[in-house]
Amino acid sequence: MHKALHPQHSNPTYKNQLIDCSEFKKLATQLGFQDMNLSPSTQCPVCNRDMKVKAGHTKANAHFYHNDSQFCPTKDPAARPYRGLTPTRPDPQTVEQNRNFADLNMDKLWARTKDIVPFLDLKEFLKLLKEANRLNVYSYANLKPQYLPYVYVTLLNFLPSQSYKKRRKLKFCFFYEDSVKSYDDLWINAGQFSRLTRISYDKTKTKAVRIIDTSTNYLNTNTSLLSEAQLVWCRCVM
Ligand SMILES: [Zn+2]
Repeated sequence: MHKALHPQHSNPTYKNQLIDCSEFKKLATQLGFQDMNLSPSTQCPVCNRDMKVKAGHTKANAHFYHNDSQFCPTKDPAARPYRGLTPTRPDPQTVEQNRNFADLNMDKLWARTKDIVPFLDLKEFLKLLKEANRLNVYSYANLKPQYLPYVYVTLLNFLPSQSYKKRRKLKFCFFYEDSVKSYDDLWINAGQFSRLTRISYDKTKTKAVRIIDTSTNYLNTNTSLLSEAQLVWCRCVM
């Protein structure tokens, strides 16, 4: 991949900051290392393991890679790590509350999801809602429904063929850092939402990496992007 976590990302100044190969080269030189691979390493934003750097013949060819055969979701974009993990502590009382939230804020949920998934088609959003329903996402005892867009995006791989007017050129997948094994793990540490990474793939090659802002500011914006008919459609499938 072309970007990886800053070697000093445990320092709050560099928290969740990505660095590309040329920035990494500069940093290694500043730290006094001629060989970038001897300098403190960058880390994979998903599995948190150290990454190596391959310089490449041109600047565009330089990339970070996993120097082992261990599993990392970024190596297997077809895998949905959270699928099949149904809530371990379903709480029927909160289900209604969470669903009501989604129902009331459907427009905003759509707007935020569309913001972070390039060329999101309404049909894809409907699929996400169906999948969230099937997996009982709303019944997680500690779910904070404000974070629903950041749960929805992990439910599907976003393919070019399914995108709005087929304008998406790459395939996009969303992953939480590897320590998150089920959705329950996401809201256990209240106040500290886990790192969400968006990765794009060209066929099977990892292209770009981006850390997604998981703030809830989107709720303060007024949007009415969906027509009445579309809203009814969304509410029917959720
Ligand atoms: Zn990894």
